[in-house]
Amino acid sequence: MRSLVTGGTGFIGSHLCEFLLARGHEVVCMDNLLTGAMDNIAGFSAAPGFSFVRHDVTEYIRVEGPLEYVLHFASPASPRDYLEMPIQTLKVGALGTHKALGLAKAKGATFLLASTSEVYGDPEVHPQREEYWGNVNPIGPRGVYDEAKRFGEAMTMAYHRFHRVETRIARIFNTYGERMRLQDGRAIPAFITQALTGRPLTVYGDGSQTRSFQYISDLVEGIWRLMQSRVTEPVNIGNPQEMTLLELAKKILRLSASSSEIVFEPLPEDDPKVRQPDITRARTLLGWEPRIDVDEGLRRTLAWFRARLARA
Ligand code: UDP
Repeated sequence: MRSLVTGGTGFIGSHLCEFLLARGHEVVCMDNLLTGAMDNIAGFSAAPGFSFVRHDVTEYIRVEGPLEYVLHFASPASPRDYLEMPIQTLKVGALGTHKALGLAKAKGATFLLASTSEVYGDPEVHPQREEYWGNVNPIGPRGVYDEAKRFGEAMTMAYHRFHRVETRIARIFNTYGERMRLQDGRAIPAFITQALTGRPLTVYGDGSQTRSFQYISDLVEGIWRLMQSRVTEPVNIGNPQEMTLLELAKKILRLSASSSEIVFEPLPEDDPKVRQPDITRARTLLGWEPRIDVDEGLRRTLAWFRARLARA
């Protein structure tokens, strides 16, 4: 088996590359290093069967030799990133998905799109089932990400229906773990970095908004099962353990034994008020559910951030 992972040096992409290598796949890791880092693949980049190609997937993608899977994970993925890189975010979700689908078609490969819970926007249905069409503001600051991913899903289904490409759509909910960037801006890396450096934890709004956080190894296992399945409709991959952001901040303070205080800052525009996956589909069709409890996942992540900060 030979797989292409776009965004392969990113947080999720690098874990996916490593997982596939461990299961005997040859892996072509492609990235333009806009938000990814060579550091993330340093632990396995010399492994037999692994290769890295520096390329921007919004341009025509050339890969020599056969491919069984094209796994499209390239995209800025934190609200801070897509505020700073709105055009690149739109381009990789739209043009990049088109190029990756074209490659999958040419190679007869199965295509998997890393989609997102952001397709549900600020949801009016809770928890979110895959049947829900979402509540997205197309012209808001998050629209560049949300709409590109929604376009990506539409393009994926069009290639499936019109060109008969084997396609999979994973709707990935908030995910955390080792290799997230310290300055990524998302809640977990922000709170952990703040807690470990004795700075105040910046909770946006009053902290009553909710999220449901899954640990990276659970996500990768879910992706693995989805890619090998015959499930063409979108599948939520997330951990239904929902909590408020204030609860998350307090949990991180407790787990890190930090004496940092909590400060409240303005809630960003269009910040979803609630988010929790309904994972009935993943449970029934993939026999998948998360295994790592949030306390355990956060402990592992804290240990990694501690080591990372010590070297920074
Ligand atoms: N958030 C926060 N403080 C931070 C970063 C994020 O309170 O320093 C909040 C953010 O407003 C949102 C939640 O945490 O309500 C999750 O944000 P994140 O950027 O991690 O991802 P999102 O789920 O919004 O894409």
